[in-house]
This record gives sequence, C-alpha cells and structure tokens, in this order.
Amino acid sequence: MKFLLIGLLLAGSAWSQDYRFSDFATAEQKATFEYIQRPWGETDDVQKSFDYVETLLKTDKPSVDLLNTVNETLASHGLGSIRNILSFCTDGISGAFSQGSEIAGIKVAGEEWSEEAREKMNKGYSSKVVKTPFIEILLVSENPSICIRKEESYLSVVDVFNHELTHFIGGDTFGMMELIIKMEDISEYYEYSMSGAGGEMDAYKAGIGAETRFLSTLGIVNPAERYPFLNDAGVVTSDEDLREYLDKLYYPYYTEAEQLKSVLESAISMNDYRIALLRDREEAKDEVARLEKITAKLKTQMPK
Ligand SMILES: [Zn+2]
Repeated sequence: MKFLLIGLLLAGSAWSQDYRFSDFATAEQKATFEYIQRPWGETDDVQKSFDYVETLLKTDKPSVDLLNTVNETLASHGLGSIRNILSFCTDGISGAFSQGSEIAGIKVAGEEWSEEAREKMNKGYSSKVVKTPFIEILLVSENPSICIRKEESYLSVVDVFNHELTHFIGGDTFGMMELIIKMEDISEYYEYSMSGAGGEMDAYKAGIGAETRFLSTLGIVNPAERYPFLNDAGVVTSDEDLREYLDKLYYPYYTEAEQLKSVLESAISMNDYRIALLRDREEAKDEVARLEKITAKLKTQMPK
C-alpha cells in the first residue's frame, strides 16, 4: 500500500489588487512592490528564481527560522537544502509539497521484520513503526519534494513557500498514514487534513502571515484587510473564521470522490490484511471483531 501525502495551495486563492501605500511609502518601497509582482518563473531556472525569493524570505524572521529548520532537516537526511527538492509545478496548482510513504512491512507483534522490510527502512527517507493491537506496521517515506507554479508572482511565492514548508515541518511525516490505519470514519480524513499538525490551518496561517508582514515592510496600509480573520501584524485573530474560509476553499478538493475512494480503499485493505493475520488467534478475536465492524462501516462510506 502506497500513499502520497500532498499538502497544497490551490490556484486563485485570495489575490487582490487593492493594495494601498501609506503616505510615507518611499519610491524604493514602491519599486520593490512593482518588481515582486513579476512571475517568479521568469528566469526559467528554478535555482535563479529561488535566489531572489531567498533574499525576500530573509527579510522576515519567522520565514528565516522556517527555512533554516527545513535546510537543517534536509541536510540531516543527506539531501543538502531546499534547493535540491525544488521545482516548478506542472499541473495548475499554485504549489504543492509532497512526500510519498508506504507500508514497508506488517507483522504480528513479537515476530521479526522481514529482510525486505529492513532493506526498505534503510533506504527510505525516514521510518516509523505504528503499533496497533497484536500488529506492528512499518512505515517508510520517500524523499520530499516541493513545487511552485511558474506564473506565481514573487510576492505570492513568499506566501506559498511558508505554506508548503509548514506542511513539511509542521506535522508528522506519517501522520496521515497512521490516521488511515486507525480510521473509523472517513470524516476523520478531512478533519486531519485541515486541523491536524502541519495541516491546512497551520500552513495557511504561516503563508498569509508572512505575506502580510512582508507587505507592511513595503509601506502597504492595512495589508490584512482582505482577510477578515487576520490583523495587520499577520496574526490570525479568529480560528473559527479562518476555518470557515478554508472550508470553502478546500472542502471540494478533499472530498472529491476519487480521493475519498483511495483513502477508504487503503484503510479497508489494511484492515483486511490485519484480520487475515489474526483470524486464527483465539486471543485476538475481539480485535478481529472490532476491525470487521469498522471495515463494514467504511464500506458504506465509499463514494459510488
Ligand atoms: Zn496546503
């Protein structure tokens, strides 16, 4: 079973042209503002494009901290820095962070991991053993990657970077896999995508916060005006209002039939596998009954 975890920012999210400069804005601030509305992919070279983005990110302390954490994390996995996992997106979304992970092994507690499972663990980016009653599941992840659409402006990239990197750093690489293994109702999938650690709520706060602080430094007045749940310091003042805003943006994506099907199929096949392993064990009969009950419910939730 393989699952690709994708944190994304959909194209066309909050973008407004009604920026107003303060009376004290300098010619230099205005020129910078003009410049950062150019598409970041204009260089056709993702490394060159990132050079300028990096100078922008370095003007904002939380962005610098995030970028440093990302680079340290990647370096500790032998991947160098953000530059090694960066590309232009090709499929229309503003940006996406993705990191595939798979179940590399599954066994009854107390038994040894297979040679194959051990090998996958050694080759993977990272690994984790999830323990469920009687059963242990070895998860292994692939290298992460991040893309941002060529047409995004430099200004927008400040937002998208903070957003996508928060998906990377903010949560547990295996959080979604673990959720699917333990899922009892498909609604948990959307809830976790939104409000789980490193989910859309966290990512959105980081992205629009950075953009808002950045616009302030360019002498833009009330940069947060377009987000009613955000103050001018870039801090979200109402989680409920942000959630309501994000539900409109993300619900259609996360509840799309194909996606729900794939999550449900993964959960069901995982349960079936565990049931088969435990079937003949008298001591596990309650666990088998529990898994069968959950599986039956998940089947009723499968989109037609
Ligand atoms: Zn996202």
